[in-house]
Amino acid sequence: MDAALLRADCANCAALCCVALAFDRSELFAIDKACGEACPNLDGSGGCRIYEDRAGYGFRGCEYFDCLGAGQRVTQDLFGGRSWQQEPGLLAPMLRAFEVMRRVHEWLALLHQAARFDLAADERRALAALEAELDPPQGWTAPALAALRVEDAGARVQAFLASLKAYVA
Ligand code: SF4
Repeated sequence: MDAALLRADCANCAALCCVALAFDRSELFAIDKACGEACPNLDGSGGCRIYEDRAGYGFRGCEYFDCLGAGQRVTQDLFGGRSWQQEPGLLAPMLRAFEVMRRVHEWLALLHQAARFDLAADERRALAALEAELDPPQGWTAPALAALRVEDAGARVQAFLASLKAYVA
């Protein structure tokens, strides 16, 4: 798997984290914000008005978030680069896809770490099968992602990772 897949590329994302994530007013966020509510610092073209000094404006929590590449994948691969900002009707399906893709990319990141071990052949085959399920060679489509049995896939990843515990002992 190409590690670049797991790097956030905000320039190719429809600012999904800035609308999808809920904030609780705290030392990390200056405001309360619900999931699905656009951050007031977001400009009309998906940019952050306070990006260079988010911590200074009370949005340090944004600096800690990493979508692991899920945002641009949803935006580009599933929605052809379109944005909920220009097409509000896309908001709900984009949020649903982002929620699932975040989990998929978290699992892919864990599998990417596991690939660094000196795995036995059968373990490497199992890892490759999981990667192929979560990063299909033909790419994700919206129907395919919607059909993913998220809990089952996560359980398979967790079981596989648990089977490798001897490598980290
Ligand atoms: S402060 Fe900026 S980076 Fe953080 S959610 Fe708002 S628009 Fe996005």
